Amino acid sequence: MSKVALVTGGSRGIGAAISKALQEAGYQVAATYGGNDEAAAAFTSETGIKTYKWSVADYDACKEGIAQVEADIGPIDVLVNNAGITRDSMFHKMTPEQWKEVIDTNLSGVFNMTHPVWSGMRDRKFGRVINISSINGQKGQAGQANYSAAKAGDLGFTKALAQEGARAGITVNAICPGYIGTEMVRAIPEKVLNEKIVPQIPVGRLGEPEEIARCVVFLASDDAGFITGSTITANGGQFFV
Ligand code: NDP
Repeated sequence: MSKVALVTGGSRGIGAAISKALQEAGYQVAATYGGNDEAAAAFTSETGIKTYKWSVADYDACKEGIAQVEADIGPIDVLVNNAGITRDSMFHKMTPEQWKEVIDTNLSGVFNMTHPVWSGMRDRKFGRVINISSINGQKGQAGQANYSAAKAGDLGFTKALAQEGARAGITVNAICPGYIGTEMVRAIPEKVLNEKIVPQIPVGRLGEPEEIARCVVFLASDDAGFITGSTITANGGQFFV
């Protein structure tokens, strides 16, 4: 029986690459998304991967959604917490709403998705939780106090939960991508991207979503069973921890 993987924000950007790579590696994959029905429909027709719409910021919706996925394709063995948003602003202009929206999605969303699958993973003595954090959670980024705080919080969550899951056969790891060429990054003005961001990346280019997806496939595999509580830093040499 193939293992079951659930990827949040799995129909676009890095998440879509992760969903496809897991499917190619033999997993039964389900992908969630937040609201872009058109992108989700296009993704399903391209890949055959079923998509589910709910907000990771809503705990009850996560519980119900996960129950539906498990009824459809079976207990979740691999959870990839990838859904994320930015609401960038310099701190003196940041609104409480911008703060809350990012914390609710990027940090509480990881709790909301992991909590409902945790007991089942413990009972079955196997699980893989892979959290997509960010370089900006490691080093901080001006204009992203909300995002940096949430993504740094994801790393603390990863390390704490790794200790709780270890004896139950569950590994919990994080990946910190640098700048990856998805819509989130392409939304940055081209001049800023070409003149300020790319020159900071020693390899001289943006990363590809597939480069993050391959890290996920490795962390999900049996070969990575001794790796837990760790962070894969994938940023083209931009920042070393
Ligand atoms: P995209 O904006 O391309 O895609 C984000 C995905 O998350 C979409 O599928 C979106 O759904 C989903 N999503 C957003 N909010 C919610 C929500 N409340 N509930 C459920 N799903 C939601 O992002 P990327 O692919 O660029 O980023 C993926 C992850 O990688 C994020 O966590 C991001 O912070 C992180 N990251 C990205 C980097 C980059 O350079 N791109 C760098 C470092 C980290 P929908 O399609 O419906 O909008």
